[in-house]
Amino acid sequence: MTSTTPTRILILGGGCGGVYTALTLEKVLKRELKRGEVEIALVSRDNYLTFQPMLPEVVSGSIGILDTITPIRRLCPRTNLYTRAIEEIDFQRRCVTLASGVGSRQLQLEYDHLVIALGNDTSFAGQQGLLEHALPFKYLGDALTLRNHAIHALEEADIERDPKARQGLLTFVVAGGGFSGVEAVAELNDFVRSAAKSFRNVQPEEIRVVLLHAGGLILPELPKNLAEFVQRLLMKRGVELRLNTRLAGATAEAALLSGGERIETRTLVSTVPGGPNPVVAALNCPKDRGRIVTDPYLEVPGHAGVWAVGDCALIVDATTSEPSPPTAQHAIREGRCAAENIAATLRGSAKRAFAFKALGKMGSLGHRSAVAEVFGIKLSGFLAWWLWRTVYLMKLPGLDRKIRVAVDWTLDLLLPSDIVQLRTDRAVSIRREHFEPGQAIFREGDHGDWLYIIEDGEVEVRKRVAGQEETPIRRLGPGDCFGEIALLGDHVRTASTHSLTSTNALAIDRDACQALLSTLPPLRDFFNRLLEERVGMRPESGDAVGVSNGVAVHTTQETTR
Ligand SMILES: Cc1cc2nc3c(=O)[nH]c(=O)nc-3n(C[C@H](O)[C@H](O)[C@H](O)COP(=O)(O)OP(=O)(O)OC[C@H]3O[C@@H](n4cnc5c(N)ncnc54)[C@H](O)[C@@H]3O)c2cc1C
Repeated sequence: MTSTTPTRILILGGGCGGVYTALTLEKVLKRELKRGEVEIALVSRDNYLTFQPMLPEVVSGSIGILDTITPIRRLCPRTNLYTRAIEEIDFQRRCVTLASGVGSRQLQLEYDHLVIALGNDTSFAGQQGLLEHALPFKYLGDALTLRNHAIHALEEADIERDPKARQGLLTFVVAGGGFSGVEAVAELNDFVRSAAKSFRNVQPEEIRVVLLHAGGLILPELPKNLAEFVQRLLMKRGVELRLNTRLAGATAEAALLSGGERIETRTLVSTVPGGPNPVVAALNCPKDRGRIVTDPYLEVPGHAGVWAVGDCALIVDATTSEPSPPTAQHAIREGRCAAENIAATLRGSAKRAFAFKALGKMGSLGHRSAVAEVFGIKLSGFLAWWLWRTVYLMKLPGLDRKIRVAVDWTLDLLLPSDIVQLRTDRAVSIRREHFEPGQAIFREGDHGDWLYIIEDGEVEVRKRVAGQEETPIRRLGPGDCFGEIALLGDHVRTASTHSLTSTNALAIDRDACQALLSTLPPLRDFFNRLLEERVGMRPESGDAVGVSNGVAVHTTQETTR
């Protein structure tokens, strides 16, 4: 390290892998950093580290929303942080492209050493309707969304009179029987059952919480007797276990199971492991099932100066010769090892091969119980729970966070669960929806507040004339739209629409439609022609629905939808 230009070390990802690489580099290269011989930069979408093992507790509210996250700037004060999305890694030019921020300019960062710690992705690819209707569970925003969603479902159930709709609102389904799924279902179950006591019209026996797991026993990471203990405990608390059952798809109203069965639900969470991060998937380097293969020192073979750690990397442990599992414990140790090996490379000293024997495995199950296997000793119940809390409190980065979490945990022992629904989402103006064959998309009498455009599939419009059975009046396919008459006429639906096949559609809400129609005259003309064709009346006659500058003109004639 004698040159005058500093050596640039660039870390991609602000999870356990990336942040612990930066933390360790700051320690081991302290002198070099002071002399300006080295520069460390870290790029991540968020400016904080999420401590994922504690996310399930955000759902139940037993810890504060911000207590699971720590600002990266405070943890790594000598690292330059870029809070941006990463778009591309170019091994040839040794540079990384970041998405544009407030302005429209992308950023390019060059590196001498690159550490890839991008984790994996929640991918719902290949399962119909999951992208549109299932909730992921990986980041803080996911835990918050799930909590708000569950409270919203209870609020709606409290005022809903239709038994089928109530059943869907009060059924909560979690797919995935690994640690994150089991911890999430345990906390969700505790939370909805205790929160429901504050809802006058929701009876405890109406609540159904279901865990779907593809294998015959949940928590395959744990010894059989501990996993069986967890199963018994969950069932005792009212969780319905569906083993050897895969989630095959979803609609807005149901979870679709592999055998063809459906569970009516308005809350579906999928913790089933996702696919590779898209930036990693686009890389041209050795990979195994989407994970970047490294040598024993965590460097990518054939790409000197490129290192990979955490969930996105396939790292074979030097002692056991087994691939390291995707856990926070491993990501932290891999980050430290990569940092030490980068320092060794800069100094020309020997690198160390990665080896780590996990200290144990622990999972919290809410209600002051947990399971743990530590140093080969198996624990369950309250003792395991106490140990779990103590260990994670010690592991949680940052003293201020440790104090906040300890206070929240103490208060949680004394106070009832909070049921405030925080609305953080902005109004949705366009969304994708998936419908199964035979599913009603809307019915006569529903309020007409969405316009649909079919992406693929086929739907049928049916109308009831003079109180008789519904009669098909129109079939629509890809590229067709429906729902415009009630939406633009601002009245209830006067016909029903059902999907005939598996159908994907874009749904656009009233405000977005009117904004488009008022600014795009050709679109306005298109809808006027469509209304004329479908309603059979000229809009200008004043008898039919028409569009004038995006403002609906009401009909006095019978409309078809
Ligand atoms: C709910 C849950 C509970 C868990 N419980 C435990 C547990 O009890 N014990 C345990 O050991 N492990 C647990 N894990 C697993 C553990 O959290 C992960 O193995 C660990 O976080 C992996 O760290 P990582 O740094 O590789 O990836 P991640 O933590 O996923 O970090 C990846 C980082 O890259 C960033 N990123 C990704 N793509 C881009 C992009 N294009 N642009 C910019 N930034 C990007 C992300 O924002 C993130 O900061 C749990 C995981 C979950 C989801």
